[in-house]
Amino acid sequence: MRTVLLGAPGSGKGTQGVVLSKKFNIPQISTGDLLRAAVKAGSELGKKAKSAMDAGALVSDDIVIGLIRERLSEADAQNGYILDGFPRNIPQAEALDEMLQQLGQPLQGVVLLDVPFDELMQRLTGRRTCKDCGAIYNIYLSPPKTEGHCDRCGGELFQREDDNEETIANRLKVYEEQTAPLVGYYQKQDKLHAIPGTGDIDEITNKVGAVFDEI
Ligand code: AMP
Repeated sequence: MRTVLLGAPGSGKGTQGVVLSKKFNIPQISTGDLLRAAVKAGSELGKKAKSAMDAGALVSDDIVIGLIRERLSEADAQNGYILDGFPRNIPQAEALDEMLQQLGQPLQGVVLLDVPFDELMQRLTGRRTCKDCGAIYNIYLSPPKTEGHCDRCGGELFQREDDNEETIANRLKVYEEQTAPLVGYYQKQDKLHAIPGTGDIDEITNKVGAVFDEI
């Protein structure tokens, strides 16, 4: 099942990706996670990506397309995947289509998690992630039982460096300008499924899961 989760920063792509990846036994591939790992490792690629990430801008297409090309060739991606945070503009979407066409394995579906703009800010400023298992919480909307610690594994929760108000505002602007046009791009291909991304997390998972079951 070759799929993309599309949505603004804070729309729940990461949260849904983790759960759906387990449910469908296919990897969640997040360019944001791959880039953060490269920054942490201090690699050349990480050094090049860091300033764009800190500013809430997009990292260059060459870098992210290269990362995706490599990741999609790994063994665990051969039965499908959930792309999270890629593509993020039309040139990336075109490069992905071309890559997959060459393999004879086109995308099967794109799910848009639709969240009103006003809600995104609160979701992003309140977001906390578990250092150990990647579970995502929100201190306002879905706090952990013990402050600062993961309910699932007890790991320490941290706030992403780019989840500060200034960077968030820029990331939302970049989404509107560069990523939102992908909605029309995939509509034209008849691959877009829009799901309201608000309300109960499990209900959203069920709705996205129903789309995955159909495609
Ligand atoms: P995310 O975790 O998806 O919110 O991504 C965090 C940051 O990584 C973004 O604000 C960008 O700076 C960078 N990034 C992630 N995915 C991409 C992409 N497909 N193209 C360009 N930059 C990206």
